[in-house]
Amino acid sequence: MIDSASLLARLADVRERIARAADRVERDPASIRLIAVSKTFSPDHVRIAADAGQIDFGENKVQEGLQKMELVGLPHLRWHLIGHLQSNKAKKAIGFHAVHSIDSAGLLLKLEAAGREQNRTQEALVQVDLALEPNKHGATPEDLGPIFAAARDCTAVRVVGLMTLPPAVDDPEDARPWFRRLRAVRDDLIQHGIPPAMVGQLSMGMSHDYEVAIEEGATIIRVGSAIFGTRT
Ligand SMILES: *Cc1c(COP(=O)(O)O)cnc(C)c1O
Repeated sequence: MIDSASLLARLADVRERIARAADRVERDPASIRLIAVSKTFSPDHVRIAADAGQIDFGENKVQEGLQKMELVGLPHLRWHLIGHLQSNKAKKAIGFHAVHSIDSAGLLLKLEAAGREQNRTQEALVQVDLALEPNKHGATPEDLGPIFAAARDCTAVRVVGLMTLPPAVDDPEDARPWFRRLRAVRDDLIQHGIPPAMVGQLSMGMSHDYEVAIEEGATIIRVGSAIFGTRT
């Protein structure tokens, strides 16, 4: 049995903290989109949050996400793919409202081809690897030129921003410099002539550091365990 009262209390607490963080930096809380990261949790967990008005959900695996969408069966929900996407799965990933993990022009163009073929549109964010840790995904800031050049010709897939997943830190304050860096990368792209609408969204901040991310300009936060509880 799911303890839905606790789930709803945690969701309400996250929303409250979002509002307070936005307030601290004089931002409109409505400009921040909360993605409830439901990976490893059941369709019933999603339904409970959806009943409380939650619209955006995040999954890190294509297959698990598609299955859950189907089982939940609420067409008004928006599903976000936040995990690494292999290009051979691009065709399936077109079923998501947005993909946050574009890391090459090749992957973007595969999604674009799939979107055109299936007559669907999708939002996409470019994942930026700032710390260059081994085994981490994402494009380096140097890779961004070709990706945004390809994005200009896309019609099915609309690039709307940048995403980052900084190294895990104990103190949320230690994540702040990475969030600042992502915003600086965005400002630099605009200086170099990338249309602001392509980099307007900053997807950054998770359960332990989303308040810091909001202070640093996040427009999308991806929060799992703080809403659904500890993943097993
Ligand atoms: C799992 C995951 C999250 C959410 O993590 P929590 O710590 O549970 O909030 C956010 N972003 C990505 C890319 C993830 O894989």
